[in-house]
Order: sequence, then structure tokens, then C-alpha cells
Amino acid sequence: MALPLYLIGARGCGKTTIGEALAEASGYAFTDTDRHLQQATGRSVAEIVAAEGWEGFRRRETASLKAVTAASSVIATGGGMVLAAENRQFMREHGRVIYLQARADVLASRLEAYPIQDQRPTLTGRPVADEMVEVLASREALYRETAHYIVNAMQTPERVVSEIMALLCLARAG
Ligand code: ADP
Ligand code: MG
Repeated sequence: MALPLYLIGARGCGKTTIGEALAEASGYAFTDTDRHLQQATGRSVAEIVAAEGWEGFRRRETASLKAVTAASSVIATGGGMVLAAENRQFMREHGRVIYLQARADVLASRLEAYPIQDQRPTLTGRPVADEMVEVLASREALYRETAHYIVNAMQTPERVVSEIMALLCLARAG
């Protein structure tokens, strides 16, 4: 792949799951900006937010986005990556951006089914279903304006991966 491929969307839409499967299918390297941030700082997202607030976390997130872009092809981003205009512009200029789109109720049921995997503090402290409605209401427009492509992420992971590969004319590895 000549250009990095950025996966964007709300928590639970499948950025990590789809990113790993897409990298496997295409043979391209995969990175998760949240994981990079944790490895670079030695702290979890929750710990960074507790110590430095969301503002500190967002600053570090922008640095992670730039660092992984140099080394990766398939990049899963944090759900809030699109909040900063700088990040939106950077992703559009440096690669192709795919929005993994799913309804709030689907996102909420995924996160409720696997709470252990969800290491992020909630943004509001309220029930996850309410929070997803609110998060999408405030971010959906940003996801859409940042994306070159919008993919239905409520299909099976296999179908989501196939659709992305078809959109980008990617060949299967092996
Ligand atoms: P993100 O990285 O966007 O927060 P994850 O990849 O961690 O999302 O996925 C969140 C949860 O939803 C995981 O338990 C994952 O197995 C599940 N999941 C992701 N994509 C799908 C899908 N297309 N269909 C069903 N479950 C999915
Ligand atoms: Mg993830």
C-alpha cells in the first residue's frame, strides 16, 4: 500500500479488530495509536487521563498519530482522534481515511458485552448506551467529513475487511 490507511470511528466500531484482520489479509503492518501511546508512555489511557486530563491525552494522541504514520500501513486510531482539526487534516493529507460506521445501539451492546477490553474511562460517567448516542451526535459529522470512504461496520468483520480491500483495490497476501 502506497499510503497509510487510517481507520476512524467511535469506541467499539471495530477499528482494532478490523485493522488487525485487514493487516493480516493484505500483509501490511498494523498499529493502533492507543497502543502506541501506551507503549511510548508506559501508562494506560486511563492513567494518562487521570494524570494529565483529557487535554494532555489529546496532545499525546496527536504525537502518536504522527509517529505511527511513518512506520505503518494500517492504522487504528482512538475514537476521539478526529476532534482536533490538526489530526483530521494530517490523516487526509497523509493517507486514505475510512470511517467504520455503526449505530449507537450496536456500539453500546458491543461495549457492554466486553467491558474488560474497554480500558478507556467513559467520557460522561453515564450509562454506555446514553453516552454512545451523545458521542455520535457530537462526532458523526467529523467522522464523515474526515473520511474518504464510509463503510458499514455492522457487518461481520470478514465482510468489512473485504469491502475495504475492494474499495482500495488491495490484493490479498499469500
Ligand atoms: P475499537 O477499536 O473501534 O474500539 P474493537 O475492535 O476493540 O473496537 O471492537 C470492540 C468490540 O466489538 C470487540 O469485542 C470486538 O470483538 C467487537 N467487534 C468489532 N467489530 C465487530 C463486528 N464487525 N461485528 C461484531 N463484533 C465486532
Ligand atoms: Mg481500539
